[in-house]
Amino acid sequence: MPVHRCPQCAIPYVEEEVENGACPVCNAALAVAPVTPPPPQTTPSAPRRAVPFLLGLLVGCLIGVAARKTVRQVVYTARVLEFSQFTH
Ligand SMILES: [Zn+2]
Repeated sequence: MPVHRCPQCAIPYVEEEVENGACPVCNAALAVAPVTPPPPQTTPSAPRRAVPFLLGLLVGCLIGVAARKTVRQVVYTARVLEFSQFTH
């Protein structure tokens, strides 16, 4: 947690103490450094979001393959039934 100093009254303060960007003692405008965590927070969460996406992609591919197999099986069964009707 970085500690800053008020440029007017020189009291030390942390960013959490600053309300509305003004010093709580002398009310001088304080430049709260916008060096807050957003970039480090988003970087580690990106791979965590990519894993479910890849899993979804994999499951989608498996379902697609299974569906194609089922369609082929149905077509094959229909042809066998057709063939058996011709022979009988
Ligand atoms: Zn001050």
